[in-house]
Amino acid sequence: MSRLKLPLAVAVFAAAAFFTASGRWPWRRFDVVAPAATAAPIASRPPVRTEIVDTLRRGETLSELFARHGVAGVDLASLGGTLNPRRLRAGLVFNFRRAAEDSAPDHITVRTSPEQRVKFRRVADGWSTEAEQIAWEPQVARVEGEINDNLYLALDAAIADAVLDEGQRAELAYKLADVFAWQIDFTRDIQKGDRFQVLFERLVSEDGEVRFGRILATDLEISAKHLTAFRFGRDGQASFYDSAGASLKRAFLRAPVEFRRISSNFSSARFHPVLGRTRKHEGTDYAASTGTPVMSAGEGVVIRAGRAGGYGNLVEIRHRSGVTTRYGHLSRIQTKAGARVSQGQQIGLVGATGLASGPHLHYEFRVNGVAKDSRKVNLGNGAPLEGRERQLFATERTKLADLLYDRAPAAIASRSN
Ligand SMILES: [Zn+2]
Repeated sequence: MSRLKLPLAVAVFAAAAFFTASGRWPWRRFDVVAPAATAAPIASRPPVRTEIVDTLRRGETLSELFARHGVAGVDLASLGGTLNPRRLRAGLVFNFRRAAEDSAPDHITVRTSPEQRVKFRRVADGWSTEAEQIAWEPQVARVEGEINDNLYLALDAAIADAVLDEGQRAELAYKLADVFAWQIDFTRDIQKGDRFQVLFERLVSEDGEVRFGRILATDLEISAKHLTAFRFGRDGQASFYDSAGASLKRAFLRAPVEFRRISSNFSSARFHPVLGRTRKHEGTDYAASTGTPVMSAGEGVVIRAGRAGGYGNLVEIRHRSGVTTRYGHLSRIQTKAGARVSQGQQIGLVGATGLASGPHLHYEFRVNGVAKDSRKVNLGNGAPLEGRERQLFATERTKLADLLYDRAPAAIASRSN
């Protein structure tokens, strides 16, 4: 990809990270005029009401914000669990409404979370407060296209703003990478000309906001090979299965760093951060900033955790069937020799210790002491669904496949890939 696109992509991800960290919800609002910084009359003829939008400032209390708008006497203690005045974030948006003749607002609303709105109403003897749940309705959407640079840019180009905004398109890309965490190293395995089809849910709030919900089914064509995934199971325990009903889960993740945390996911070019290497390179390098969490690729026992020459801070894990994995150049080790670790468990942080010119993770996958390409090694078959579960899955898969492949129901009973 071009040099120009990289800073933009980084900015998008930085923004996404900021919104995630700050707990705000930046997704698009429809039918909602951008809040004005000052008084904005919403009607020019009687009954004249004015609405002022204001945000809670850093270090400011709710009482101070209310006082700025001439509101006093709200019993904040009575809010209970709906709104804890001591734990409000700066930047929370409050809407003050007043009748024009009146000097003080009589109605205040605030969105405390994506799912909740709190309303304050002036009553005869003070203020009443009430928490309202905000309903989000799921809508099914499908998208397909070709990958030119990488998965993120492909989804970004294929989905209109009205369907999902930029930040939520990134969320969809991350979730898609999570679905195939055992099959594909999205930072390297994607080639120009690969294709994707994704069936997903978007959630639309009663206020017209839109956000990504969940992936229902997907078909990726990677180097002319189809990989399919269908969601199945109860909410909270649902996971993905291939078209034959076998789980996508395997004993090892393809990459021990989350796709969303790897800087090179923006580029199809290989990343070579290690200069002047003298030994044979027997691993895969993942460019990520210092402090990025490193996960154990599979369940096992830590056999080494400490300083190891050119590897810098190294963690080595022994797994079943003679497999060992190594994680080098860590800035910090977060496990110790002898510890049992599960798949996906955090064991350290990316760094540049040892022979490394910049922060990255050096990852090795060894079978009986011999280094293998972690991206190519055969991880076997996934556990198949059995009995009644298998029947239920077949029904669900047929339904999802019709939507995924955009064909009339029952046109084809099942399509194998
Ligand atoms: Zn390396």
